[in-house]
Amino acid sequence: MKILVINTGSSSIKYELFDMAGPKVMASGMAEKIGEEESLIIHKRILSNGESTERREAVVIADHHEGMSRIVALLVDTEYGAVRDKNEIVAVGHRVVHGGEAFHSTTIIDEEVIAAIKKNIPLAPLHNPPNLVGIEVARSVFPNALQVAVFDTAFHQTIPKRAFLYAIPFELYEKERVRRYGFHGTSHAYVAARAAEYLCSPLGELNLITIHLGNGASMAAIKNGKCVDTTMGMTPLAGLVMGTRSGDVDPALPFFLADHLGMTPRETDALLNKESGLKGICGTNDMREVIEKMDAGDDRAKIALDLYAYRIKKYIGAYFAALEILDAVVFTAGIGENSPYIRELCSRGLDRLGIEIDLERNKLTGSGISEISSPDSQVKILVIPTNEELKIAQETKKAIANFLK
Ligand code: ADP
Repeated sequence: MKILVINTGSSSIKYELFDMAGPKVMASGMAEKIGEEESLIIHKRILSNGESTERREAVVIADHHEGMSRIVALLVDTEYGAVRDKNEIVAVGHRVVHGGEAFHSTTIIDEEVIAAIKKNIPLAPLHNPPNLVGIEVARSVFPNALQVAVFDTAFHQTIPKRAFLYAIPFELYEKERVRRYGFHGTSHAYVAARAAEYLCSPLGELNLITIHLGNGASMAAIKNGKCVDTTMGMTPLAGLVMGTRSGDVDPALPFFLADHLGMTPRETDALLNKESGLKGICGTNDMREVIEKMDAGDDRAKIALDLYAYRIKKYIGAYFAALEILDAVVFTAGIGENSPYIRELCSRGLDRLGIEIDLERNKLTGSGISEISSPDSQVKILVIPTNEELKIAQETKKAIANFLK
């Protein structure tokens, strides 16, 4: 069974084609700068022996429809392609950022689902519109395939009211659905399931704190396999310090900025989303560069890293209290998987909570799952590579099996 996973942004389409027997990736790539003067497609065909061939096309791609048509041409290309006919692709799994309260799980896309995603546009104005374009384009390019939506928010729909409501007039929740939703759900769900496999324990019996540290960053508290709290909120701005996002700030900050600096809501939005976080403190949002700067003696980089790790450590404590019993802490995504320094900084000093990092093991992580807690640690500390595309493909396969039953 061949499933295409796509993630459509405002000017890009990322894709990965899976053969679900395996499962293995047959091809992957990205069309970027769609609608700009010069667009680019980078396409990779992955052979069964693991070798790959790459094709780069610098072309003008006027819109997402043209982008998807070009991707299909590459997928069926005699030299770079992975399938003979596009009809071999039985389903297209779409990453959809905001499912609001309507979606608790992966869903086959029909008119009603499209209407519900549209209804959630005010909650994710930057993400849901391009996701909808991706769905529309895939429907016309793959008329025989089932279209499936996998929501970033779905995994967090089990969070109880005490954790998802804001203490503001209740009508704002009832009428406008203002509440915490949480994001990165696909990644948190994927690493939680992998942790259960690794620990040889049913997920439904495990309590976990999962820490996704990429350009965006979030944590989830998972009790008996179900999410009970997460750091991102109504939007992905809340919670941890991120590359360019502030994470938690005093909610009165925008009024101060408006009153004293005359900043408009749009300007404040840009400041908190694009100019804050690591970048706001030390001028760069790339964690590797921040660490290099610190190593070269840059004080601001050191402060940025301290702030970054301190926020994570604080949430580990908070989520431990929320869960009461904790089996494992899981680090994932670009920084979580690759930075022993950050992992050490936010796990150090938690011995009294039963969380003991082994500093040597922490430096020796490989490409698979690594256990970096000391042998005596009551709580395991794991590094688990995330794979959101694979999770979307797996979810898509499950949804179509249920649909065809
Ligand atoms: P995205 O959210 O875009 O998927 P990633 O999960 O790829 O992001 O994470 C990107 C972040 O991971 C960047 O800040 C990058 O600097 C960081 N990163 C990647 N490799 C390392 C490394 N070896 N050490 C520290 N940070 C790393």
